[in-house]
Amino acid sequence: MNYTYRKGSCPLRREIKIGNEIIHEREWIEIDNGIIKVDLAPLPGLHQETLKESYLDFKNAEFKTPSALFAKECFDFFTGVEDIEIKSNKLLYIDLSNDPKESANTCQVNTIYKVKIGRGDLDLERKWLKIFLENLNESTQIRLDGNMSFTVEQLNAYLEDLKLDRVQYIEEPLVNATEWQLIKRSHELEFALDENIGHRRDFHFAKYIIVKPTWNLSLRNTLKELALENQEVVISSAFEPPNNMKILKMLAAEGDQVPGLDTLEYFNLDRLNISPFNII
Ligand SMILES: [Mg+2]
Repeated sequence: MNYTYRKGSCPLRREIKIGNEIIHEREWIEIDNGIIKVDLAPLPGLHQETLKESYLDFKNAEFKTPSALFAKECFDFFTGVEDIEIKSNKLLYIDLSNDPKESANTCQVNTIYKVKIGRGDLDLERKWLKIFLENLNESTQIRLDGNMSFTVEQLNAYLEDLKLDRVQYIEEPLVNATEWQLIKRSHELEFALDENIGHRRDFHFAKYIIVKPTWNLSLRNTLKELALENQEVVISSAFEPPNNMKILKMLAAEGDQVPGLDTLEYFNLDRLNISPFNII
């Protein structure tokens, strides 16, 4: 197979923090097989591999890294990519300097917001979230994402007086997911697996799985999960560039759940740059 490689980059509208990395610009390598285009786009702070490692992995046809494997499997499985418009959840970061009531009032109706929790002072965050959840519009739903940052004790205190009826699920809040049963309000909340998706067959308490086909589950297995329907599949992205986003939207259209694919809004697409590729 002959591939054409091009270098892509795009500044973000505002910096994002992934793990310990602060990112201002997204970089990737676009691969074109003459039929479809896929991006090699490991996300610093999430993927272990660098862009260069991802490229070499693809070039050497080893596919040991999830980002290169995704590209390979896209070429294996897809002979075309359709442009599909799909409704996604929106990302919301808790900003303690914003009034929580006002933040709730500005949420759009009939929309799902994913709120990252456990990133700052837990007590201040909890107080903010309490007011936010109490002031939400009837038709707004919330997905909480804890990124494995809570102990059992911390999470019990955090959830204690939150209004949970608008919360669709909580994504991996605990350092140790198997302790979920120790959470006092676990029966009032659905659990979603993300980081521990590899345990989806053992962790029966997880109703949802958050699938990032470029990172935590291969495309082959994503398609399998969508067909199996033993857990609800939420297709999500790792701040993917435009070609990958198109592919993920196509996948998400196969599932029943609103995907987490609004991250292109973070790209300053007016300044997107695709240029000839020089070996890195
Ligand atoms: Mg998550």
